[in-house]
Amino acid sequence: MENNKKKILIVEDEKTISEILEYTITREGYEAVCAFDGITALELALGGNFDLILLDVMLPGIDGFEVCSKVREVLDTPIIMLTAREEEADKVQGLELGADDYMTKPFSHAELISRIKANIRRYHNEARTPVIKDAQDASVITINGLTIDTKSYSVKKNGKSISLSKKEYDLLEFFAKNRGTVFQREEIMEKVWGYDGFYGDLRTVDVTLSRIRKKIEENPAEPEYIQNKRGVGYLML
Ligand code: CA
Repeated sequence: MENNKKKILIVEDEKTISEILEYTITREGYEAVCAFDGITALELALGGNFDLILLDVMLPGIDGFEVCSKVREVLDTPIIMLTAREEEADKVQGLELGADDYMTKPFSHAELISRIKANIRRYHNEARTPVIKDAQDASVITINGLTIDTKSYSVKKNGKSISLSKKEYDLLEFFAKNRGTVFQREEIMEKVWGYDGFYGDLRTVDVTLSRIRKKIEENPAEPEYIQNKRGVGYLML
């Protein structure tokens, strides 16, 4: 363990859950700071230099979605949304607002720690390696009117800017750099989200992909860029 403890903000209004999260996280060697309402969470998140934020959706004051979108206006700290509800709409909304991932309560400690590790590792790797990455690859990828600039992380379709969340961009860039190769959702989860084993929720891939399609495809129901290979996975032609 390095001297520099990674700092995690826990935003959860239910005291018992918050205490369990704090215990689990500090036992793993992280430093934990707890917030119990949305306003405090936002203040802490913006000023606290955190390595990751665990963010409950239902909170007093302002809810987790609002905290997420306000944080994303200025910071790219990894955010894992914690939702008590299974509804797909919650997940879609969280991912659209720029959350990196979500977990549905209840979840195991092992799963929580695995996801925290993966998100922090990916965040710090990305911050450290962009120059090397760009030196090796062509910095602008063009595919049938779609332009992906890997230096500025920007995407254009026929010259018009397309606004993508961080994860949507990562996923699109991943496919664009691996054209012609079919990837299973498990592999995508591992390569784009950084999860190994079975800890990621595979629907995250489908949800993020469907959001990308709505933004880049003429007809999202008949996608021309990223195709389904039924029973196998996805590929970009
Ligand atoms: Ca709550």
